[in-house]
Parts: sequence; C-alpha cells; structure tokens
Amino acid sequence: MGIAAMENNDDMFFGDMSHQNDSLPVKENEAKGMGTLFILSGPSGVGKGTLRKAIMDLGNISFAVSCTTRPPREGETDGIDYRFITSEEFNVMLDKSLFLEHAFVHDYMYGTLLSDVENVLKSGEDIILEIDVQGAFQVKSKMDCISIFILPPSIETLEDRLRSRKADSDERIILRLKNAEYEISRSGEFDHSIINDSLSQAIDELKSIIISYRNYYGGKNK
Ligand code: 5GP
Repeated sequence: MGIAAMENNDDMFFGDMSHQNDSLPVKENEAKGMGTLFILSGPSGVGKGTLRKAIMDLGNISFAVSCTTRPPREGETDGIDYRFITSEEFNVMLDKSLFLEHAFVHDYMYGTLLSDVENVLKSGEDIILEIDVQGAFQVKSKMDCISIFILPPSIETLEDRLRSRKADSDERIILRLKNAEYEISRSGEFDHSIINDSLSQAIDELKSIIISYRNYYGGKNK
C-alpha cells in the first residue's frame, strides 16, 4: 500500500498483527553467565525511546547509545541519547569495523558499537538496542538476540505523533511514514510485537517479555 492509500484509509489498524512466538529460542552461542541482547525496533515515532526508558527500572539492563550523523534535537544530550558524530568520523569507524550494525535511515547514518554490546553481555548484564529494522536484521544474522517490534495502533496515530513532536518538516514526516510502511510489513519476522496504544500496557508487555527470558535463561544458561 502506498502512502497515498494509507492517507485515505482510516481503518488501517494493526490490532491483528501483534504476536508472540510459541517457543523461546535457546541461546546457543553464548557462554554461561552472559547477558541477553534485546532489540527494540519499529517505525520512527512509535515510542521506542519512551518504552525503553520506562523499562530501565528493571535493573541489570543497559542501553546501547548509538552513533549518528544526525544533528541533535532540542533536549538531546551527546553521550546519553546518541553519540553525535560527523560523517567523516562515522566512515572512519566503519572502515575499522567498529559497528555491530549500521544503517542509513532518513538521510543520516546510525550505528551500534560492537564493543558496547560485547562488554555489557560479558559482564552478565542484559543490553537493549533501539534500532531500525535494517539494523535489527543485521544483528539477528550475527548474534543470539531477542527481537521485539513496536507497532503503532494505526498509521494515522503514527502520523499524529510525528507531527506533534514538531521535530521534522512535512517532507521528512512523509519520508518517515513511507519507511514505516516498509518496516511494519516486516514486523512478522520479529520474535515478538507489541502495539503501543496504551503506554502503560505496552510497558507492562515489554517488561514481561524481558522477565520471561530472564526466568527461562536463568534456568537454562546461567
Ligand atoms: P531518530 O532520528 O528519530 O532518533 O531515529 C531514526 C531511526 O533510527 C529510529 O527508527 C531509530 O530507532 C533508528 N536508530 C537509532 N539508532 C540506531 C542505530 O544505532 N542503528 C540503526 N540501524 N538504527 C538506529
């Protein structure tokens, strides 16, 4: 479905797309005592950041601060929200193979440092990445991980959220919605998906997914 069709379709809801795989995957390649890698993915504006921040009170979980060539938005802090770097710096790091994954998203480069992920997992702590679907598939092909996709209740809600945060021009909002269409089409390839309609319910669902893996791996691998 194209963006024009999406704009005309008031009934485009994702209520039937939420899913959970029946069996929990076994961490085959990880040594006993290592943390678990969680990937949080989904369209821009769906609320990944809010959800991620809300689950940090579980403890024993770190957030991998990505590198990006995007300029900081108002209220964002270097080293906390992102590591804001230049395209030249990004390319040098790419040449040195420092990224576990990287992607070109909405005109800017984004990447997760491999060392960040490895260090946290080796320490026994869990880590959560907040990345786009291109990056999620790269990580899935390289490491044992649990992938979680966040869906908006509808495309209209996503558009409202993107517009209300006033961070993007009309043109960029259209671009983000076009990318959202593609990303949502791949949500079925994730281990879990959560619809972010009621924020408190979505937080509870995300926490219970993480806790269920902790309980499971606590018995199997640790
Ligand atoms: P934003 O510019 O809105 O902060 O992020 C744009 C998109 O890039 C979001 O979907 C966000 O999750 C994703 N993103 C943020 N960091 C990374 C990263 O390190 N790698 C990848 N592949 N995507 C990222």
